Order: sequence, then structure tokens, then C-alpha cells
Amino acid sequence: MPLCGTVILSGPMTSTIDLASTIKSASQKAAARARQLREEIHANPELRFQEHATGELCATELESLGIEVRRNVGRTGVVGVLRGTGHSRTGRCVALRAEMDALAMDDQCGRPFASRNPGVAHLCGHDVHVSCHLGVAHVLAGLRKHLQGDVKFLFEPAEENAPPGDISGSEAMINDGALDAPKPSAIFGGHVYPDWPAGSIALRTGSSFAGNDRVKLTVIGRESHSAVASTGIDAIVVAAHIITALQSFASRELPSEESASLHFGTIEGGRVSNLLAERVELNGTFRVSDEKLRDELPARLERIVKGVCDAFGATYELDYALRSLPAIVSTRREVDLMRAAATEVLGADQVIPMRHPRLAADTFHHWLKHMPGVFYMVGTANADPATRWPSHHQRFDVAPETFPAFIAAVSMTAIRYLESK
Ligand SMILES: [Zn+2]
Repeated sequence: MPLCGTVILSGPMTSTIDLASTIKSASQKAAARARQLREEIHANPELRFQEHATGELCATELESLGIEVRRNVGRTGVVGVLRGTGHSRTGRCVALRAEMDALAMDDQCGRPFASRNPGVAHLCGHDVHVSCHLGVAHVLAGLRKHLQGDVKFLFEPAEENAPPGDISGSEAMINDGALDAPKPSAIFGGHVYPDWPAGSIALRTGSSFAGNDRVKLTVIGRESHSAVASTGIDAIVVAAHIITALQSFASRELPSEESASLHFGTIEGGRVSNLLAERVELNGTFRVSDEKLRDELPARLERIVKGVCDAFGATYELDYALRSLPAIVSTRREVDLMRAAATEVLGADQVIPMRHPRLAADTFHHWLKHMPGVFYMVGTANADPATRWPSHHQRFDVAPETFPAFIAAVSMTAIRYLESK
């Protein structure tokens, strides 16, 4: 596909107002290119660790801007380094991260750029993340002399669910030296969400994604023929009581203001229709945004499981992987910095406090083990009902105003971070 060049910026930019208005107008221009790229990526989605065309698109676009590129980092990841040439270089590096993988779902967005790859679709918005970060690369490449350090672009593969035995793309990239020189001292990454209006971002210090805990419960009864049910212990009946008791626990024992999801996604047990089941296995994910409450959950869950099993004479095995995916915790200093930077380009009304963590999980926590950073939310909804579908819905789409705001907020954040002491 044709490549367009760096956004050329000129004129004095000595004051904050000048820089903000320069970034805003550069972001509008870069957004047009980002929307073009987004449609290309959306039409050609790729699953985890298969992001060859998406990675190549990122690499080619970065190279067209004079940005150093390393391909195949952590299998299909791409790293770009933009060297700033500011007079008072701080020697710092800031990382900006976007995920590239799509979901194994059918696309029903109904747009001309709908997925051409049956059963694979960008319904989590990663196409928007990638294209907007390429938009940021356009803006910042035109502002090199205002960058007091380096910007490292991390295009990450395989963010979505890692199958057992495999690692995530962020781990693969880190293992493959993505954080080697220049080593970033902070990282910013975000996620699009229709919960906030397009043109805005939402921020919060502390947990922004709650992460999740994985639960495997096996209920063990005693097999017998259904004609002599009293000689057995029906593990299916016991499991049903446990599920019901847990719903009451969620609605009656957890604080009403607490966001929580106690969910069994699979249940399997029994051998044939006329025998009482001896074993039932349930697999679930539990999410609670309050970390103290989360610590208490395994013991509280076991109290219910044990109580129900004891009542029916059954036994159980409980495997509770606390923080199977940890919460994503944004650090105060970097949140404050991003809030101020985003306010410069979006206005205070469009920088929204995020009141509660989302009950979602993301591999961004792997990067945050190595440095402080922010996981921000990007608003995507406008009056068009097509922009109101939640992510992972087959008709998920974003409003066009999302692009310039996303690009401007992240561009200004990178500049201000590199200036900061
Ligand atoms: Zn996602």
C-alpha cells in the first residue's frame, strides 16, 4: 500500500499553547492516515503469533518515517525507536505499546473494510490501537527536535488468551530483548472502550484492569444407578447447589458498590444418563476489583464449597489460581503527567476520571513489572449506535473522533514525559 511521509511541521513552538495547537493539528492529519491503516488492518486480521502482515505494515510505516525498526521480536512483534534531537536531552526513553492480534470470531461490523479472513476479526479494537500508535509515530517524527529523549514503539503480538503451555506476546518480546537499550523508564498503553465518549480518555491511579483469578473445582460424589439413588451421592446435584450458593454469595456477601464477577464457564460430569455422576468439574474465572477482597476470596469460596459438600456427603478438590492474570496498576506520577498532557490537547472536559477498575485483564501487567506506567482508556462512542457495542461484540466499531484524540493525547504525553525530571 502507498505510504505517506512524515507530517511536516513548521513555525515557532516556544509556548505551551503553540505546542498543543501544533500537536492537535498534526494529530488531525495523522488521524486520516491512521484511519486508512486501521481499515487495512481490520480487513486483514491475524490471530496470536500470526501477525506477519500486521507486523510488516507497522515496520514499513515506521521505516518510512525514519524510525529504527527491529522485526520478529518475540516471534511476530515489532520494536521501533524514534531518536529525539531536543537541545536539552534527558537521555530518557519512554515506551508506547499497542497490541496487534485479532479474535477468533466472525466480523459483523457491516463496513466495507469488514474482515476478509473468515473466523478472525478485530473486535477488541487492537486495529485502532496499532493504527493510532502509527499516527503517534507520524506526529512525533515531525517533532524530533522537541523530543528530549527517545520513544520506543512496542507492537505486541498475542495479547489475547494464551493457551496452556504458551506465553503471551508481551513476555515473548521482553524475553527477546524488547526492553534492551534504549531502556524505557516508563510505559504507556491503553484500550478503546465505548463507555466513554469519542474524543476523551479516562484515567485512574491504581488498578485500571482488575485482572482475573482462575478456579477449577471438582466435586466428588459416589456413583450409583438412578433406580437406587440413595446409595450414591449425586455430584451434579451438589455442583448445582454450589453454583446457586455462589450467586447468593456474590449478591448478598460482597459489598454492593464492589464490581465482581464470579463465573463458571464450563461444567462437565457424569458418564451416562441413568447413573448418578461421581465427578463434576467446573472451570471459572473470578474477578473482583478490590485487592483485599480478592485476597480473601479463596478462603470464602472454600467455606461455601466445603459447607455444601459436607451437607451432601460429597468431597471436593479446589484449585484456585489467585491472580492468574494480575491487576494492572497505573502509577500516580505517570497518571498525573498523562492527565496534564492530555488536558493540554483535549481540554479538561475530555480527560475523565475513571471511577472503578474494569473487570478485565490484559498482558500489559508484564511490562509494568519492569517500569512504572499507565494503562488508560480511550473513549470511542458517539451518537451512532454502531459505536455503542462493547468490545468482543461481533459489531464492535469506533467513532472517527477517536483517532485524533487518541493520537494527540499519547503524543503530548510522550513529549512531556521526556521533558520531565
Ligand atoms: Zn483488547
